[in-house]
Amino acid sequence: MRPFTYERATSAADALRRHHDGAVYLGGGTNLVDLMRLGVEEPTRLVDVAHLPYDRIELRPDGGLVVGAAVTNSALSADRTVREGHPVLAQAVLAGASGQIRNLATVGGNLLQRTRCSYFQDASKPCNKRDPGSGCPAREGEHHNLAILGHSDACVATHPSDMAVALAALDASVRVQGRGGERTIPFEDLHRLPGDEPQRDTTLEPGDLITAVEVPALGMPSRYRKVRERASFAFALVSVAAALDVADGRIRDVRLALGGVAHKPWRARRAEEALRGAEPTEESLLRAAEAELEAAEPLRDNAYKVPLARNLIVRTLTELGEDS
Ligand SMILES: Cc1cc2nc3c(=O)[nH]c(=O)nc-3n(C[C@H](O)[C@H](O)[C@H](O)COP(=O)(O)OP(=O)(O)OC[C@H]3O[C@@H](n4cnc5c(N)ncnc54)[C@H](O)[C@@H]3O)c2cc1C
Ligand code: SF4
Repeated sequence: MRPFTYERATSAADALRRHHDGAVYLGGGTNLVDLMRLGVEEPTRLVDVAHLPYDRIELRPDGGLVVGAAVTNSALSADRTVREGHPVLAQAVLAGASGQIRNLATVGGNLLQRTRCSYFQDASKPCNKRDPGSGCPAREGEHHNLAILGHSDACVATHPSDMAVALAALDASVRVQGRGGERTIPFEDLHRLPGDEPQRDTTLEPGDLITAVEVPALGMPSRYRKVRERASFAFALVSVAAALDVADGRIRDVRLALGGVAHKPWRARRAEEALRGAEPTEESLLRAAEAELEAAEPLRDNAYKVPLARNLIVRTLTELGEDS
């Protein structure tokens, strides 16, 4: 392990000032420190941002939320206003990791956790994301849990966060403090598809500090469903974050995002479009799921994700239709 220093930031401005020359921000450390142990990340300086005053969940008068970046995953999933107003978010967070990890993990760190592709995590292997231009052994190698949508020749990795899938469905946005001041990024624009720059997970600039996530009011039933290889402590093979509003036997509004299928949380806009105004029958749900998954390009060993995603979409929306 290379030597590094540890510094605790006292404010956003102080964090930005300390972020230079090989520095990285440290949240709960549950992903970053693992990657340092594996030799995948080699920072020279850790700037601790987990103790900045961004540890509150604010309920706005209109029912929206402002969640500070230093709020722990445990606090977020346990918060009564979140569980009542945005159950899909609380369920997604609870579906991730373990109680001990959620106690340490922060909202900012969760969104920026790195892919679980096994080649990325093995510093002895080539990987375009870790070492641009070195190749992507996953495409012909072990990829049963990797992407079916939006991948490129350069990278077929998936984004691992469950929370991010819920936030994509919820039309959230991310508050960022950068060198040019504060700005707000629509959640869908935070993470990237790999294209020919898989080393860039997000659209953030060097030094950008996530300070909060804004979540608009929802006002309709919502749910998160995740399929994984074990009942706990496992990342999604496929997951679905959905919200559904049915009135007079027709779908008035719907939100749908998929996890475990792409390099970023996948907002299922095609399916949403097909569903608005339709009757929530099994046939129309199936048609909408298939419309979304037409774009899928499965690899040799992950074609099973296409019917899995289709069935999970139909099941989750059917359950929500029954709740409506
Ligand atoms: C065994 C195990 C199982 C897991 N299972 C799941 C799972 O099923 N689903 C799931 O979603 N997750 C899972 N996780 C991942 C876990 O959720 C993440 O490790 C955690 O959320 C990361 O948060 P952190 O605060 O510890 O981030 P850190 O490890 O501290 O940081 C992660 C990244 O975010 C950056 N960062 C942190 N805060 C900020 C900020 N405010 N602004 C800008 N950059 C920042 C860091 O520089 C780093 O690059 C699992 C982890 C483990 C170890
Ligand atoms: S899929 Fe992406 S992360 Fe995995 S080996 Fe290929 S380039 Fe690396």
